[in-house]
Amino acid sequence: MTHDALIIGGGPAGATAALLLARAGWSVAVIEKAVFPRRKVCGEFISATTLPLFDEIGVGEAFSNNAGPEVRRVGLFANDTTLAAPLPSPTALSHRWGRALGREHLDLLLLEAAVRAGARVWQPWSAIELRRNETGHYVCNIASRQGGTKELIARIAIAAHGSWGRSVFSWLAPKAERYSDLIAFKAHFSDCDLPTDLMPLLVFPGGYGGMVHSDSGRVSLSCCIRTDELTRCRQLWPSQHAGNSVVQHIQNSCLGVCQSLRHATLDGVWLSAGPIRPGIRTGFSKGLFLVGNIAGEAQPLIAEGISMAMQGAQLLARRLIDQQNDMTPDAIHSLGVKYAAEWKEFFDMRVRASATFAYLAMRPKVVAMALPVIARIPGILTFGARLSGKGAMADFG
Ligand SMILES: Cc1cc2nc3c(=O)[nH]c(=O)nc-3n(C[C@H](O)[C@H](O)[C@H](O)COP(=O)(O)OP(=O)(O)OC[C@H]3O[C@@H](n4cnc5c(N)ncnc54)[C@H](O)[C@@H]3O)c2cc1C
Repeated sequence: MTHDALIIGGGPAGATAALLLARAGWSVAVIEKAVFPRRKVCGEFISATTLPLFDEIGVGEAFSNNAGPEVRRVGLFANDTTLAAPLPSPTALSHRWGRALGREHLDLLLLEAAVRAGARVWQPWSAIELRRNETGHYVCNIASRQGGTKELIARIAIAAHGSWGRSVFSWLAPKAERYSDLIAFKAHFSDCDLPTDLMPLLVFPGGYGGMVHSDSGRVSLSCCIRTDELTRCRQLWPSQHAGNSVVQHIQNSCLGVCQSLRHATLDGVWLSAGPIRPGIRTGFSKGLFLVGNIAGEAQPLIAEGISMAMQGAQLLARRLIDQQNDMTPDAIHSLGVKYAAEWKEFFDMRVRASATFAYLAMRPKVVAMALPVIARIPGILTFGARLSGKGAMADFG
């Protein structure tokens, strides 16, 4: 059987694209190598701007029933300073505030919805090779965890396999210098003393992070730390798990985190990933469409990656569906070029703003100079959140 679309990766980007295409009547195959539910390095916050998309794809109610409390304030925990300011409220939206949901729940919710819409999901299967045959169709070799292999054929292929692991496609494999020197960590804590409506940015020597109330009364703490600082943490606390040594380092330099975790206990194990690869890549390469992190990603301190992944998938699905009656190679090529340009237009600001914030957050002298100013004008935090995409919904026309 020849599918209309083959999607590699069943995370937020892949599942959203699969669902929207399947709902439009496309025959869609998704290949996902991990067994769901699974936890993932991620702060788990989802911007209010993405909640209408949740409704559109039919998971809005399930999300509302399971996500953590509404997040109405953005904060800054740095040195001895703890600041807070209102998050921009996108008043045009029916849901006004972003919330967090564990990736073990969110990713399962989205992929199950894609299956209900008609997508065929191969899981846990890995895409190991993709090539084009003489008719121009994509042929993907997939391998199951149990050892079986199979060939899937489709008219178009979409890469949605994220950016932190090894790339399936040699031509998309990044050069070493494209990686940042940031390693990401994430854990859940219970019994945290963090206000439920507050999502603080954590600034500490050699890195940054975030905390937010997620589902089931848990708080997610996620962060990125430079490799040299991580090495120092490991030397200071050699008997500790790397994640514990990092959180110890954060608590030593960040009063707000220390106070929030005073009575907290680690819920589950630390996860790590990286080095991460922030930056804009491309939405279209050699006939292949790219969505989510593999197309481009912001520095995680703005907590927009899931939103960008899902909104980018929505953009691609709309453009593909609009053009479904003309799928000649030339038409696909022009659509790909147009989609890649639109992707850049919609997400460029978020990626650039996040790069600037991350650069500043990791310069202790800049932080020391900026803190008194932000303390006097906390609206700077609201403005920063607006610049990073939390103020307005994407309008794809
Ligand atoms: C520290 C940190 C904190 C963050 N916090 C937030 C936050 O609070 N809010 C937010 O919105 N974003 C956050 N992000 C970013 C967010 O996690 C990502 O942007 C998001 O997961 C991207 O979604 P995706 O679908 O593109 O990729 P992924 O979520 O990585 O999904 C890709 C999927 O592809 C599968 N896959 C990979 N290779 C193959 C293969 N060969 N064959 C089959 N399947 C394959 C993987 O198993 C995976 O399930 C954070 C990131 C970090 C590092």
